[in-house]
Amino acid sequence: MSDNQTSPQTPASPAVRFEDFGLAPEILRALEAQGYTHPTPIQAEAIPIVLQGRDVMGAAQTGTGKTASFSLPIIQLLMQHANASASPARHPVRALVLTPTRELADQVADNVKAYSRFTPLRSTVVFGGVDMGPQTTALRGGVEIVIATPGRLLDHVQQKTISLGQTQLLVLDEADRMLDMGFLPDLQRIINLLPKQRQNLMFSATFSPDIKKLASSFLSDPVTIEVARSNATADKVTQVIYKVEEEAKRDAVVHLLRSRNLKQVLVFSNTKIGASRLSRQLEQDGIKAAAIHGDKSQAERMAALEAFKNGSIDVLVATDVAARGLDIAELPCVINYDLPYNAEDYVHRIGRTARAGASGDAISLYSDKDERQLVDIEKLIKHKFVPAQLAGFMPQPSRGSGERRRREDVDTRAGRSSYTPRKEKIDPWFLQPYEPSVSAAEPVAPQPAGGKSSIKSKVKVAALLGGLPKR
Ligand code: AMP
Repeated sequence: MSDNQTSPQTPASPAVRFEDFGLAPEILRALEAQGYTHPTPIQAEAIPIVLQGRDVMGAAQTGTGKTASFSLPIIQLLMQHANASASPARHPVRALVLTPTRELADQVADNVKAYSRFTPLRSTVVFGGVDMGPQTTALRGGVEIVIATPGRLLDHVQQKTISLGQTQLLVLDEADRMLDMGFLPDLQRIINLLPKQRQNLMFSATFSPDIKKLASSFLSDPVTIEVARSNATADKVTQVIYKVEEEAKRDAVVHLLRSRNLKQVLVFSNTKIGASRLSRQLEQDGIKAAAIHGDKSQAERMAALEAFKNGSIDVLVATDVAARGLDIAELPCVINYDLPYNAEDYVHRIGRTARAGASGDAISLYSDKDERQLVDIEKLIKHKFVPAQLAGFMPQPSRGSGERRRREDVDTRAGRSSYTPRKEKIDPWFLQPYEPSVSAAEPVAPQPAGGKSSIKSKVKVAALLGGLPKR
């Protein structure tokens, strides 16, 4: 355990019970069915405050039980409107939960469904990348609680398949990520469609000045709830960092997975291409892996997640955006293949492990190219790492420009003192002569008089081929 960890500021005492909040018997029954015995710290703090109708600014990471901390009181507050009428008009949208990613939307929706299953309240989820038809049918039938990603929600607003005029509760979940993803204008548009009089709840794992600005613009006299110090790394995560050669990272990951017999590992890559490449390479090395990132279709992402959850693959290689909010039970280990460009993502990444009270390992690999990111992370989490050595993968001492103090070797492989890159087999495809594809070989369309556009397209092609000579 590192010394930068924090304990919840107000730990839930085992004496606090869900029954103490005055929740409806239908909700308590659902919690029992979920196997929840006691509220987590954020639930113990947030539930009574939300039930009082107050706005909330919650500093909580995924894995703390924050979804139930807002869903349970929302369901309770909406119980007065619960009815079994078949008329859609009797089921207007009363609560809206906005999330940055489809995966998180899906997970929140699953939780809301589970917690409200014994009530007549209806909920649905809308996110992009899938057919709008079934979402439209669900919305037209009437739902009290909608969980949505901003873009697709606005599509439904435009198509007039949803009306938000009676929304009395708004939740911004993982607000920091929504800003990172450029959702601010969409959020503004959505907020303008809601009644002025409403209760607002905002959750964020990190608190940048931009998040504080957003909070002050739309929360009214909020109660701040902080279960872990903002920008602190998740409690119970053991963090280890290894310095390795950049070219050795792939083999280092394979070595870590094999030597420790690691299963259910989430590996983070900074880029979509990097994630795909690493997952393919791991497969070549005999490790069952899949990649999950923004260029994958929703169906592919769901299939990869499902395969990971049911154990048919051992490793999920993900980008930050795709991994955001993934709730995978008992995830024992995350590996940072690259250190994230944005230090706050480090906090999010390692928050994937040690969820809901379990403990976990966060292993990071860094090379000279990650040095700046490492400094940023250390500054953010106020903790100086002492890199451990991964025997056989250490950089040559002569190259260690910014060599750091090392602690005892925790991972020894006899007989190897520095990494020798593997000899890559070259795919014969790359050795074949270039042949234009059918579309590239298509005849050029007739040009208008003057040949202007012909020059333009030649310029483009020339630029693609490495630029035009200066005239
Ligand atoms: P969240 O932070 O909302 O993503 O929740 C993380 C995980 O903790 C989810 O798998 C929840 O189902 C689980 N969880 C939430 N609240 C409780 C609770 N009071 N007791 C046990 N598990 C919980």
